[in-house]
Amino acid sequence: MSKHTHSFQAEVAQLLHLVTHSLYSNKEIFLRELVSNASDACDKLRFEALNDATLYEDQSNLEVRVSFDKAARTLTIQDNGIGMSTQEAIDHLGTIAKSGTKDFMSRLSGDQKQTASEQGQLIGQFGVGFYSGFIVADKITVESRRAGLKANEGVRWTSSGAGDFEVEQIERAARGTSVILHLRGDAEEYLNAWQLKQIIGKYSDHISLPILMEKEEWKEGEKEGEPGSMVKTGEWETVNKASALWSRPKKDITTEQYQDFYKSISHDHEAPLSWSHNRVEGNTEYTQLLYIPAKAPFDLWNRDKKAGVKLYVKRVFIMDDAEALMPQYLRFVKGVIDSADLPLNVSRELLQESRDVRLIRDGSVKRVLSMLEDLAKHDKHEASESADGVTDVVSDEDKAKEGKYSQFYAEFGAVLKEGLGEDFANRERLAKLLRFSSTSSDTASVSLQDYKARMKEGQEAIYYITADTLAAAKNSPQLEVFKKKGIEVLLMTDRVDEWALNYLHDFDGTPLQSVAKGAVDLGKLQDEAEKKAAEEAAEAFKPLLAKLKEALKDKAEDVRVTTRLVDSPACLVVQDDGMSQQLARMLKQAGQ
Ligand code: ADP
Ligand code: MG
Repeated sequence: MSKHTHSFQAEVAQLLHLVTHSLYSNKEIFLRELVSNASDACDKLRFEALNDATLYEDQSNLEVRVSFDKAARTLTIQDNGIGMSTQEAIDHLGTIAKSGTKDFMSRLSGDQKQTASEQGQLIGQFGVGFYSGFIVADKITVESRRAGLKANEGVRWTSSGAGDFEVEQIERAARGTSVILHLRGDAEEYLNAWQLKQIIGKYSDHISLPILMEKEEWKEGEKEGEPGSMVKTGEWETVNKASALWSRPKKDITTEQYQDFYKSISHDHEAPLSWSHNRVEGNTEYTQLLYIPAKAPFDLWNRDKKAGVKLYVKRVFIMDDAEALMPQYLRFVKGVIDSADLPLNVSRELLQESRDVRLIRDGSVKRVLSMLEDLAKHDKHEASESADGVTDVVSDEDKAKEGKYSQFYAEFGAVLKEGLGEDFANRERLAKLLRFSSTSSDTASVSLQDYKARMKEGQEAIYYITADTLAAAKNSPQLEVFKKKGIEVLLMTDRVDEWALNYLHDFDGTPLQSVAKGAVDLGKLQDEAEKKAAEEAAEAFKPLLAKLKEALKDKAEDVRVTTRLVDSPACLVVQDDGMSQQLARMLKQAGQ
């Protein structure tokens, strides 16, 4: 086959233009991206080889090699993973297949115009996969052969990152891929072993494959006065820790390593809010390392968004987004679960039915809830002084948790509420984690426990109102009588509240009651005189009520005298079993 020229998909051309023209604050991320591709390729080979061991071609030690050639100004990342066929090289390197990259592009082409340096920062945060090579290279050559194909079925892919790329068939004995970067003049710093090792240590330590570099040693100049230099020895050494982070003992892992690992699996540039790392033994054995992000991703509300938990079996990567391991309402959780008991060739279908998976999922949900409970417990610390003048001691660890639950709740509280309808087994724990605004607190900081503790003598229900906004909720005429009697009412303004509350009839034995439904029965809170006055009024206004009812017969089910109003002449309520106004509006919005 001769050389063929292909054009990049339009988005790729756009992206490449961006990558090469924006200033970049951390260009070194190109290495993270290329090493992670090499590692993915090895994972893929290992996975395919489960069903066909011949793919190893008697070379089953999977590894990544990083080397450079000062004279030629090239840097090469080579792996002996799955490799690519010609068609795969065309498809995978010429189009944007990766959803994360698409999201990234849509962010860049969104309404806000960014400066080149802001764009550069965004690129650094997201990483743009393979194309980040063009941050440092003005030409990239990829040579590859897919495992299982013949030596003469190799492919060479070349591009200078403009509108097109060339592809030709080559002879290649070695399985796997070499990515050869022809470095730009301003990227020569990467022709340096020490520098490369630093970057690999920073981003790729947790990669479970060995990353090898050729050893160098110092050689004095040949003659007197001639400068010495580092020369290659032909011997290769492993430069990363090469052990999956989660498989190391907790005490050997630093906070920074946990955070870096999070960043590498989540593509989030901010440190996580919290994490939990455990080895679970018992009915089924597994390790979990689960993170709660600090910020909601912009696609959190995308219903198709996959959960962020990766499944490994005995350190072999099996799949991303293993939905079976985390319920929808915890879709913000990121991390890794590594099972010791699942078969390596587990499929998505099998996952749904596996008893081990069910146990892992239950255990992981509990873990996340405990993490949240712990944050909630330490969210506010009221400095208290005991009688003998000794202030109680707060550990630094606990102190670091202050304010985190509020932060979590502001980002993910609405998602967590979905759990009321989704996870019956944990409903009570979830209910305790909920926070609301109320007539005595503008911030969403009131828990149902707090509310109960403040309930008035004789109050028999937890009262709430739903509305579109906090202002609308606070000014609703339906609240008048509650205000007058000093009864706290929870103000619910999340779209999901109405739906979620359908699943929460009571909390700790106390019913939840909407103030906008039916004839609010204030029970013991209502004094006899008021009741009597209302009954008399109802009697006296009977003819008027009948007239109003007739006049409004298509619009209102009933018209009655009420004690719920103090200043307003009238208000609308729905029947006890009726759909609330808020829910009706929501369904209408959704076109139902
Ligand atoms: P992602 O890794 O998220 O899929 P990239 O842009 O990094 O996105 O890579 C695009 C695709 O190119 C990969 O999905 C893979 O199919 C292919 N690819 C890149 N590097 C390699 C490699 N070293 N070996 C095999 N395939 C690769
Ligand atoms: Mg990649």
